[in-house]
Amino acid sequence: MKLEPISHKINCKTCNHELLKKSPASNVLVCSFCQTINWLQNEPKSGKAVSGSAKNLLSIFQIGSQIKDTLVQGEIIGFIELLVNDSYVVLYQLKDGNNHIHWLFERHGQLNWFDQINHKAIENAKITNPNAGKLFTLEVKGNFQNFMTSKATMLKRFDIFGEVWMTEELELQTKILEAYDEDGQCFFSFIFSSLHNLSFIGKRIHIPISSIINPSFQFPG
Ligand SMILES: [Zn+2]
Repeated sequence: MKLEPISHKINCKTCNHELLKKSPASNVLVCSFCQTINWLQNEPKSGKAVSGSAKNLLSIFQIGSQIKDTLVQGEIIGFIELLVNDSYVVLYQLKDGNNHIHWLFERHGQLNWFDQINHKAIENAKITNPNAGKLFTLEVKGNFQNFMTSKATMLKRFDIFGEVWMTEELELQTKILEAYDEDGQCFFSFIFSSLHNLSFIGKRIHIPISSIINPSFQFPG
């Protein structure tokens, strides 16, 4: 049997521009030429995602940025910019050397480094009607942790850039919960229904600017 190499190239459905897929984990590729959002499987029936008007143009993180920190290593391959109520949250996706995807969450310049957790992990948490300042208990990987709701918001718009993994269930008006524990650990969840959510849990981190290599900034010499 002859083994064929797995194709990492797809053509944009709108303009046929050839796009290179960098991570096997991603399922959305935005065309760098015409900004069409190309879903690689299960295109949402009522897709409301848009692309093309990034608000984070002044961020130190760009697609192609390499981060070489002791905790965080990888290349930013894409990001999702979420407008929640009146402010922006950016979920950057990093591909590490083993092609695993990690998430870096930025809000007002603060960074959190996420692992995605199993949906079932929070089935016991009664957070269907979260209000700011509400305490709740979360079972995370078998451990119970207390969190306090920081923000309970509504998704108003989301823009996709580059290459990302995202759930096709994400829709406008999805509830978003942001909560913290006493150690500053962040819990971030898209709540689709009382038993169904997509959640991330992570730590607040600081990445020194010296450990970011941005392709837009080349020092001469
Ligand atoms: Zn295109």
